[in-house]
Amino acid sequence: MKKRKKKTHIKHADFEGLNISALEDHKRKGGRLSPPLSQIANTTLTSWRDHGINEVLWAIVLRGNLRQNVCLTIFRKIIAQARENDPNYKDTFISHSALSVLDDDQFDTIMSPVLSDECAKNILRSLLYLECLPDLKHWLRHLQEPESNSHLEYLMKGVASSLDHQSQESTDIRWLKIMYCAIVQGRIKFPQTMGDMLEGFRLYPDYGDQRSVRPQIRALEITLRSTIENNGHPYEMTASLCEKAPPQWSREFWKECLDKSSCFTGEFKKPDHAENDWYFDQFFQVYQVVSEHFLEKIESTDIDPKRDAVYGLILYNLYIALTIGHSGLHRRLEGRILLRTMVENFITLKYLAHNDNKAIWQQFRSYGTGQAKLAFLKNLQEETVPSFVNLNDLFDYANEDLWQEFGDINIKPWSEKNLRKMAQESGVKEFYDKYYDWASGYVHGNWAAIRDSVFTVCLNPLHRYHRIPLIPKLDMPSVQMDAAKIVNSMLDILNQFYPQFKERVKHPS
Ligand SMILES: [Zn+2]
Repeated sequence: MKKRKKKTHIKHADFEGLNISALEDHKRKGGRLSPPLSQIANTTLTSWRDHGINEVLWAIVLRGNLRQNVCLTIFRKIIAQARENDPNYKDTFISHSALSVLDDDQFDTIMSPVLSDECAKNILRSLLYLECLPDLKHWLRHLQEPESNSHLEYLMKGVASSLDHQSQESTDIRWLKIMYCAIVQGRIKFPQTMGDMLEGFRLYPDYGDQRSVRPQIRALEITLRSTIENNGHPYEMTASLCEKAPPQWSREFWKECLDKSSCFTGEFKKPDHAENDWYFDQFFQVYQVVSEHFLEKIESTDIDPKRDAVYGLILYNLYIALTIGHSGLHRRLEGRILLRTMVENFITLKYLAHNDNKAIWQQFRSYGTGQAKLAFLKNLQEETVPSFVNLNDLFDYANEDLWQEFGDINIKPWSEKNLRKMAQESGVKEFYDKYYDWASGYVHGNWAAIRDSVFTVCLNPLHRYHRIPLIPKLDMPSVQMDAAKIVNSMLDILNQFYPQFKERVKHPS
């Protein structure tokens, strides 16, 4: 019988296997949403990448360069070897700090499955690039020093495979640590009720549902790195190992990696300008048809706040859409900033259409007129005004509908509601959630937007994929299709108030 798929909030296959809490599972406290794990009191965060990888580098290098079954066989042999042939097995561990404390005989005994394997030994020669390894003296006794960069790739491949704490490779190494603590040190006890979980660990990765086994391994391994209750040392180090172990050396490790290898940047992708033309032409055509439609429908030269707002907001967004389609802007930071404005304009129109009464259309118009008056009065008393400000225009806009001496200035948002509320009331909250927050980040220059626009990841895994400046990013995912969808939704409103309007932006086939 087929197993029923577990219900999940994740709708994208790439993220299904990851531990990701749904937004609804976050707890709201004031203006903050906290994920479930961060709600557990007294947790100390320990980073696998920053402080975990360096301690098991030898295993990481092997796992990244050998097939899983070959590597797990070596790991199993190490556990058996330590347990059966080292008389002091309880006071040993396989981290570099722990191995540095062991005498030559102990090291050679425990590591004999590696040291007797010529392929593994050759791969591990890459460890000798690093002077910071506390147990370097042991490795130097067995391994031949590599020539210049001959073995650097093994080191990079190994670290690359385990930088992600949830990868298969890092899970395999975290399994080794648990099994060593359980079988050799005897410091992890499994109650009988957890027999099935123990079988999953013992026969890993061939027993049980790996979607459960892997997270269990990772959760348990985190506790081995916890320094609570062990005088500031990770739990995986027994008291006698702690006495002689070196202080934490992860910082030195990453510094040496940085000093001894260069940053790698990916290839710069040039945007493809040919793809601009389709939407640019479409937006241009629709702009013309909307303008003509306005003139066809005009019945009076009276001030008509509703008509002007409906057509005006649509034309305004089409203007922006045209700009987005120009010179590859749709794949650039500016495209995102402009899309966010389009989103706001669409929600404004939706809200106006939802309420559709004389007062609300007038309120929208008066607000804008008031803003022109405000800017006019502020700049009027300045000897120099910003270059983009034209005082004559401001004066005209402030007085076009009504002499400004009778016009109020509204200093609150025009609808006296924030955009989220407007979206909620007009039934487009879902749209707002999808588009607004992330696009707003680009307007405000929040860190994630800056990260996305001017930084890239150095592709050297020995640098922990740190961020380095990038030539301005010109190949972001295009915003043109989103712009087209927004325009089309607005044209639906136009058709509702001033039928018939059938023209729509067409998507390329
Ligand atoms: Zn780098």
